[in-house]
Amino acid sequence: MKIIKQYKPTRMSSTHPPLGLDLDDTITAHPEFFSWLSCNWPGEVYIITARGEGATRDPEENDLAKHGIAFTDIIYANETSECKANVIRELGIKIMFDDMFEFARHIDSDVATFVVKGSNNFDPGPNLFCFTRDTGKLIGPP
Ligand SMILES: [Mg+2]
Repeated sequence: MKIIKQYKPTRMSSTHPPLGLDLDDTITAHPEFFSWLSCNWPGEVYIITARGEGATRDPEENDLAKHGIAFTDIIYANETSECKANVIRELGIKIMFDDMFEFARHIDSDVATFVVKGSNNFDPGPNLFCFTRDTGKLIGPP
C-alpha cells in the first residue's frame, strides 16, 4: 500500500487523545511502525519537529508521504528544548514519541512519552545509552 498524502480531519475524535510524533530519527527510524500507528490512530496525529520551518512545508510533507504517515498537521518547535513540551501541552497530546532526551525530559509526566532508541541516544559499541548531565541521571553503583 502506498499513501501519497493522507491528512487526518481535525477533531476526528474527542474521545481519543491526540498523538504526537517526532519526525527525524523517530518516524524515519521506524517508518513502517509509525505508518501503521498514524493510519490506525483514531484521533489527531501531530508531527512535532525541531526542523526549522522553511518557505514551504514540502520537505517535511514529502518525507511523511514517503513513509506513509497520516497526520493532522506539522508543528515546528525548534526554538528551545522546552518548545516541544509547550506544544504538546497546548495540543493536549497524551502520547508522544521522540528520540531526544533533551525534549522528552521537559514533557509533562501525565504524557506517555516513548523515547526511540537510535544513534542520537545509544552507542552500540559498549551497548549503552548516551546522555548528558542535563538529560540523565546515573543510578546504581558507580
Ligand atoms: Mg528526532
